[in-house]
Amino acid sequence: MSPSVVESAITVAVEEEEGSGAKVRTRAYEASVQFIEELTSKCDDVQTKVLAEILSQNAETEYLKRHNMSHRNINRETFKTNVPVVTYEDIKSDILRIYNGDFSPILCAPPILELMFSSGTSKGQRKLIPATDVDLQKRHRLLTAVSPFLKRCVEGEEPDKGKMLGLLLTRDETITPGGLLARTALNTIFKTPQFYNDNPYPNNTNTSPIEAIHCPDHFQSIYTQLLCGFYQCQDVTRVKVVFGSNLIWGIHFLKAHYTDLCHDISSGTLNPKITDPTLRARMVETFIQEPQPKLANFIENACVGENWEGIIQKIWPKAKYIEAIITGSMTQYIPMLNYYSGGLPLVTLNYSSTECDLGYNLNPMCDPNDITYTIMPNMAYYEFIPLTSGDDDNLGTQHQLIDMANVEVGQEYEVVVTTFSGLYRYRMGDVLSPTRFYNSTPQFKFVRRRNVVLSVDVEKTTESELHKAIETASIMLQPFGTTILDYTSNSCIETIPGHYVIYVELITKTPANALGLDENTLEECCLAMEESLGFYYRACRKARCVGPLEIRVLSNGTFEKLMDFAISNGAAFNQFKMPRCVQSASMLELLDSRVVSTHFSASMPHCRP
Ligand code: AMP
Repeated sequence: MSPSVVESAITVAVEEEEGSGAKVRTRAYEASVQFIEELTSKCDDVQTKVLAEILSQNAETEYLKRHNMSHRNINRETFKTNVPVVTYEDIKSDILRIYNGDFSPILCAPPILELMFSSGTSKGQRKLIPATDVDLQKRHRLLTAVSPFLKRCVEGEEPDKGKMLGLLLTRDETITPGGLLARTALNTIFKTPQFYNDNPYPNNTNTSPIEAIHCPDHFQSIYTQLLCGFYQCQDVTRVKVVFGSNLIWGIHFLKAHYTDLCHDISSGTLNPKITDPTLRARMVETFIQEPQPKLANFIENACVGENWEGIIQKIWPKAKYIEAIITGSMTQYIPMLNYYSGGLPLVTLNYSSTECDLGYNLNPMCDPNDITYTIMPNMAYYEFIPLTSGDDDNLGTQHQLIDMANVEVGQEYEVVVTTFSGLYRYRMGDVLSPTRFYNSTPQFKFVRRRNVVLSVDVEKTTESELHKAIETASIMLQPFGTTILDYTSNSCIETIPGHYVIYVELITKTPANALGLDENTLEECCLAMEESLGFYYRACRKARCVGPLEIRVLSNGTFEKLMDFAISNGAAFNQFKMPRCVQSASMLELLDSRVVSTHFSASMPHCRP
């Protein structure tokens, strides 16, 4: 199958979907099935052609020429020999040139439309990924092509006529010194006309207006989205957030603000804190209704008191499922999502990133533990670095990389992508494991993010970032004759929002109190640690999706006890490394039983990029 055949299959699906009625819907579904079958049946063939297409499109770029690639040697073997496997650090200087306004074809031939912020950071700075129109269109067409299939899996033959309550947020946008728009991929999606108008998974059934989603102030955005969801509570059949943590955060917001929301409904007014002029005008014009005390009472009764079990079903009684990403670091939220939703099905449709699309869950109604992603082989060229268990530092020398069609079920791999918009053999940092093949295309379980030790929301904190934060705290403790002997951590999600807990054991030469080590100093250490963490950590703090960092000081000898405990449970003494994040319940119990004092960050860390 040539890429042009792939594209034409997409067109069939799009055209069919534009009509209406059961027959047209069935044809759109069948075209979608055919499209998925064709693509997944010829995985390696499609991958060869995609690579050839990327290389010929970008043959005249500085990057490929630098690595001795040209129109004369476009083939997989030369590509694998000549082009190195890289991380963001290796291409950062090229991206910086684009950021500063060098629009020559450095990485890709098509003009760069914008730079997209990925949630990963590089030395505390946000990563920027080039986006081209060609690539964005391709992504949109792929979504359009698979949507009729996914939609049927979730909704059955009868389309869902109800509304979607979406809690969707946009983030800040900036202009680079070179004049390019820089924003997140989600901002880009939420601001395309297709998002609202001609998406086959249409968002014009959303309960809230686009002005609410576009409002960059998170308080105003979520407040109005919830208010609109209340007014239409009898129409809502599904709830959609991007990540599972977003819904937990939304419920936390609801707990804090339901009285104000109910007041707006019972009085037919809009909270004066909604000051964004476009949003306020739209809300007043379209959504605010005559006073509705009955509706306000209904919502207040559902929210009042401590028992929030099944709150989603109580307020939106016709909701049939929740759409959210619940794999990877989001798995930790499944019990809470089940609690608040009253056990509604949790549906994850896709796995994607700023860099490229990575797959669809072709069995979206499956049990959360069984979610796998099928990577569509036409989107990018994918390679895989085999990882030996626990070996996150495998540098993936070129000959070790495995093509997608040749991965082995059960093995763990880091995924490496080559994209239409100029990333070549780029390590994504995600660890995946194939569970089976669908036709000739592997289906992957998302295992984890490489090197990430802590994650509560979309932020990802690596071991080295955590270590840097500990070093910052150590410097602050020096004047008190105090040193951090050892440390470990845990993402605590028992609080809402979740927060980082850092366990430390201190050694003090002179009695610490004598030198003035007090509550304030340790609180300041918490804040200093937060200041030194990555941009996304600080942005999540500002948005209150992550709570204040906590230091738990342990009694002397705790880490020795922890090591003894691990060894008595089978760890080899010579190989024992103190885990920088503890997840085992029994280890956490041991740590918590030896806490002598706890300290929280008392203010908000700065949030400059
Ligand atoms: P970003 O580039 O900021 O959109 O973040 C992309 C990253 O989010 C991916 O590389 C994954 O680490 C994570 N991610 C996205 N979708 C999923 C998913 N369905 N399951 C698990 N992790 C995901």
